[in-house]
Amino acid sequence: MAHSDRPFTTRYRGRFAPSPTGPLHFGSLVAAVGSYLQARQAGGDWLVRMEDVDTTRSVPDADRAILDALIRFGMEWDAPVVYQTQRTRLYRAAMDSLTEEDWAYPCGCSRKEIGGPVYPGICRHGLPPGKAARSMRVRTEAQVVGFEDPLQGPFAQDLETEVGDFVIRRADGLFAYQLAVVVDDADQGVTEVVRGSDLLDSTPRQIHLQRLLGLPAPAHLHLPIAVDTTGCKLSKQTRALPVDPSHPVPMLHRALTFLGQAPPPELRRAALKELWEWAIRNWSLDKVPRRHAICVE
Ligand SMILES: [Zn+2]
Repeated sequence: MAHSDRPFTTRYRGRFAPSPTGPLHFGSLVAAVGSYLQARQAGGDWLVRMEDVDTTRSVPDADRAILDALIRFGMEWDAPVVYQTQRTRLYRAAMDSLTEEDWAYPCGCSRKEIGGPVYPGICRHGLPPGKAARSMRVRTEAQVVGFEDPLQGPFAQDLETEVGDFVIRRADGLFAYQLAVVVDDADQGVTEVVRGSDLLDSTPRQIHLQRLLGLPAPAHLHLPIAVDTTGCKLSKQTRALPVDPSHPVPMLHRALTFLGQAPPPELRRAALKELWEWAIRNWSLDKVPRRHAICVE
């Protein structure tokens, strides 16, 4: 297959990164479809990564169920599926390099001592006497970190005052999601991160880590998330229903409609291949609602 027809530019690489905490649900199907279409229309690669770094949330065999569903929905990935639980060595190397440069430091605080969402910097200048290291944190700076999202507009945070020095390795020894994602996206050569808008406020922390680690900065695109009529986020932890992969076409039609693509109604009865051909040919980011969340029945 021909690579990019623009030599000297980086080939597009997107990814879908579900957590194996349950079967694929409508919200994650929307993220999968959006990232897949961005990659396919760019003639690039689409990768799948299992974000199982938080093993306390993983459900046995949920990874298989998600991958089986993707196959039945007709989404093909271009490289072997990566599991975060097999990449601890990479995360440790990143943490070690941050520690060596004094960007990361041990923290001995309990949640109760911290008392709020912003870490007050108690261990910033060394562990206070009598405290043992529990987690590792990365330093933030009094600096606004932001980016321009094609759908959500400009988004910025002053990390020091809005987030505080944040955890990169947790008290239970697991590496934090923020660190794992940044290391993985760089290692896999991801050029654009397409995901749900519920992760918008993680992005400045991830950009901060990319800069500290000297990693390339991917573009970011946050799709509207699906919320139910009570405004509750659809997630596998709440009442989200799994999507039925045995009838992929109507469900994909629904996902495309959610993404503003207005597929012709007759495509609801089309063959899977035909629906994808239409979707790839007609995918338009301009048609995706510029909203944080959309209600679904
Ligand atoms: Zn502390």
